[in-house]
Amino acid sequence: AEERRVTAGTTGPRPPVDTSRPHPARVYDWLLGGKDNYEVDQKVGETLPEEARGNAARNRAFMHRAAAWLAKNGVDQYLDIGTGIPTEPNLHQVVQAITPTARVVYADNDPIVLRHAEALLTSSPEGATDFLHADARQPETILEPAGRLLDFDRPVALSLIALLHFMPDTDDPYGVVRTLVEALAPGSFLLLSHGTADQHPELRQETEAAYKRGAIPLRMRGRAEVEPFFEGLQLVAPGLVFAPEWYQEEPAPVQERSGFYVGVARIP
Ligand code: SAH
Repeated sequence: AEERRVTAGTTGPRPPVDTSRPHPARVYDWLLGGKDNYEVDQKVGETLPEEARGNAARNRAFMHRAAAWLAKNGVDQYLDIGTGIPTEPNLHQVVQAITPTARVVYADNDPIVLRHAEALLTSSPEGATDFLHADARQPETILEPAGRLLDFDRPVALSLIALLHFMPDTDDPYGVVRTLVEALAPGSFLLLSHGTADQHPELRQETEAAYKRGAIPLRMRGRAEVEPFFEGLQLVAPGLVFAPEWYQEEPAPVQERSGFYVGVARIP
């Protein structure tokens, strides 16, 4: 089996983990009940509305369902940007359980995710996984090294799960997504989830305030602001919906309020 591990931009000393201020990956880890977070992160988590934990879990469950659906539909290459701290099963474990030869490239810009990269590199012997320490705001720095493992002449599923709400409009998230999507062959897919207050407007202020105190830029977006990420793409059923509403053949998940819009679209 081929073993390839490229960690772009990480040839020098590993960037230090800053425990003096909260980080999105660690707050999210806390929300999921993980142990890879610090007091500063817990503080943000504890000041978030109670619903935040359920929202994180339901977002994660959507990722599992969508990744399994893509694998069952023949996608065997994945580019997952904004990976987060490993929480089993990770995307490669979901898709390789269905397609052992699947190849997965992960990318995240947080040094703590880099520290846990080994846990993302437990590929099936037939497939391959890789981790890039890179910033989504510079998509070329991801696409170029990802091309060493992925064949961009064939379909790739691009996964941007719970990432884009950490990009304020000044980071040009729409331009970032366009650049990434334009690099993909016809028949590729975009799977995306995005924080929103549309189903619980009364929690918006509390949520924004908690992240703001932690100096984490949070830009929840409404439906009309999430739709343009899919411009020119073909949303697969059930379309752009709240996280628990996206499922295929499996039994319907419990339909609870959600803080995430989700969608999977085919790239023509
Ligand atoms: N996708 C995972 C984790 C979501 S948490 C899941 O849904 O389960 C959001 C992740 O995005 C964090 O790990 C954070 O470090 C990462 N992130 C935020 N901004 C980023 C950027 N500009 N480039 C790369 N990763 C980023």
